[in-house]
Amino acid sequence: MEGTAGAVTGRFAPSPSGRMHLGNLFSALLAWLGVRSRGGTMVLRIEDLDPARCRPEYAELLKEDLRWLGLDWDTEQTPQSRRAEAYGAAFARLQAQGLVYPCYCSRAELHAASAPHAADGTFVYPGTCRALTDAQRAAMARMPAWRVRVPAQTVRFTDGLQGPCAQALDAACGDFIIRRSDGVYAYQLAVVTDDAAAGVTQVVRGRDLLGSTPRQIWLQRTLGLPTPDYFHVPLLLAPDGRRLSKRERDLDMGALRARFTPERLTGLLAQLAGLQPDASPVRPEELAAGFAWSRVRRDDVTVGDLDKI
Ligand code: GLU
Repeated sequence: MEGTAGAVTGRFAPSPSGRMHLGNLFSALLAWLGVRSRGGTMVLRIEDLDPARCRPEYAELLKEDLRWLGLDWDTEQTPQSRRAEAYGAAFARLQAQGLVYPCYCSRAELHAASAPHAADGTFVYPGTCRALTDAQRAAMARMPAWRVRVPAQTVRFTDGLQGPCAQALDAACGDFIIRRSDGVYAYQLAVVTDDAAAGVTQVVRGRDLLGSTPRQIWLQRTLGLPTPDYFHVPLLLAPDGRRLSKRERDLDMGALRARFTPERLTGLLAQLAGLQPDASPVRPEELAAGFAWSRVRRDDVTVGDLDKI
């Protein structure tokens, strides 16, 4: 695997769209351990790309929640809401390669025209606006989104936890959006621009993002940016099998901080990760000493009844 020797730079990349929950904290702890166990550098980046969903109060709360658990960082990157210029430069580089085109399809049209991709529910773009003429574009009444033309190419990489992965971009997603019709740059473009700007060498995040990693790797290669090592960590599931989400109020940090000390919560997270046989209280620094990715579980984990812990 690339980058196993030398300095590690990792990041926390939370979205301030709600209070963090146990699953966010689980990924954050593993991201921190991946860096601190190697004496590396940790970057915090607030991913507030979508102005409609993100709030500054949540950004402050999530910093406080990370600090409360004992997860620190060395630098804070400029929040995504203030990085439009950098994303615009990456967009222009793709445009200069003839890879970008405007797409006028509405959400309803897209849903009607394409089948959801079985693995993650995203839609495969059928290429409707790929070959419009200038005259056809000029006749469109709506503001376009902007897509990048993907080649019929299989992107392969080895995830540090999930193992070898391969995805044919055209079959899995098709040409994807890099700028929305309201002008907001898409997460895929923002994340590769920001990771490269911060010198990130190790990306640790939830397994739900494994399916978008090939798009990001392809963008990195196309833009001449380095590809970090990836570790996609298990998702935490509620006892009924659903993924924990920010809507699961009983497991959000407000509720968790009222019932747990930081050491007890870290003990629970360490047990869920497979790093300890039980939930005995522990501090993140103590876990860093013996941390190895080979000890981390790779399959999703159901969180039991917290009252019994
Ligand atoms: N901001 C994303 C989230 O909170 C994480 C993106 C990433 O780690 O690349 O789910």
